[in-house]
Amino acid sequence: QSLTVELGERSYPIVIGNGLLQQVPNLLQEAGISSSSNLLIVTDEHVAVRYLSLLRDVLRAAGYKASASVIAAGEQSKSLAVYERIMTEAIEAGLDRKSAILALGGGVVGDLAGFVAATYMRGIDFVQLPTTLLAHDSSVGGKVAINHPLGKNLIGAFHQPRVVIYDTAALQTLPKREVAAGFAEVVKHGLIADESFVDWLEVNAQELWELDSELLAKAIQRGCAVKAEIVSEDETEQGKRALLNLGHTFGHAFEALSQYSALNHGEAIAIGMCLAAKVAERIGFAEKGIYERTKEILRLYHLPTSWPGELAPEAVLDVMKRDKKTIGGKLNLVLPSAIGQVEVVKDIDEHLILDVMREEVEA
Ligand code: NAD
Ligand code: ZN
Repeated sequence: QSLTVELGERSYPIVIGNGLLQQVPNLLQEAGISSSSNLLIVTDEHVAVRYLSLLRDVLRAAGYKASASVIAAGEQSKSLAVYERIMTEAIEAGLDRKSAILALGGGVVGDLAGFVAATYMRGIDFVQLPTTLLAHDSSVGGKVAINHPLGKNLIGAFHQPRVVIYDTAALQTLPKREVAAGFAEVVKHGLIADESFVDWLEVNAQELWELDSELLAKAIQRGCAVKAEIVSEDETEQGKRALLNLGHTFGHAFEALSQYSALNHGEAIAIGMCLAAKVAERIGFAEKGIYERTKEILRLYHLPTSWPGELAPEAVLDVMKRDKKTIGGKLNLVLPSAIGQVEVVKDIDEHLILDVMREEVEA
């Protein structure tokens, strides 16, 4: 299966299928990266032990020169120090403007390797080989970044990949907690734009949770398509792209307050999407029932749906007000008006948001 992210001359295909890592050389050639290109594979330690030698072998058999840079797993690798190390390895490996960087891994590897590709010699080719479900989200849109000690993703660029090669077989080794986190974003894409996709995710939840490869490819394809459509209309985040932040204003606050440890990103936005649905019901923006249904579907994917008890609602609200997506201190939230439909709602009463959070703590 495949789809195209339409961005004029920066358009690129996302190819999804079982066993695609074996076909990487062909797919690179189709994307215009010939076997005379010097490649640098960036990957993390967990992914490297499972898939790096396979990838290197198929690339070398096809005549590519491929070196590898293996980083520690986890968010802390999206740092200036690791960025500098990969730059050094790229220079030492002799990469030039015709070379390409392959990101083999999840969103951490994709964001970091993409930022290296965006800035190495003012930008070289970049290919994503996602190995997490969450990376279906980060593989669309071209946002690449590393973190600064003072904030997440503060140092970054827009740099579109040449091609995204999504081997669903690689997802089979993903820890279940990461599978759930990935489904949080898949469900989000349904809730934003596609009610029939939400129905389908409900009906097929069991098989999807068990990573049936055909259904998984469909889920990734549909999730990417929803995001791609929005990104095509708003590549540099001036307007419509904000809709992708459903659940994220709450979620980012939970993540920040739990120091990015107790809750991972998917878990935090799952709770955030429930709260957004509850706020939408409370202000009469959505009909009753949307909150329950949002909760139900997230439960099917083993995601948390209620308040992380140790966080104070007031503290969460403070962080939400500082979120870079709020304008002039007023609280604007992406809220569902129905399943498969969202809008940015402006100037929401802080007290109402606090009340909704407090009810969740008591429940
Ligand atoms: P991740 O890359 O850290 O992967 C999660 C964990 O799973 C890691 O420990 C990793 O080593 C392991 N892993 C990955 N693939 C595996 C496999 N196939 N088998 C076994 N283990 C495997 O995290 P993630 O959830 O993929 O991505 C999160 C990052 O993505 C965050 O830094 C976030 O900011 C970024 N992100 C970026 C965008 C964007 O638009 N650029 C969008 C969403 C998220
Ligand atoms: Zn997200």
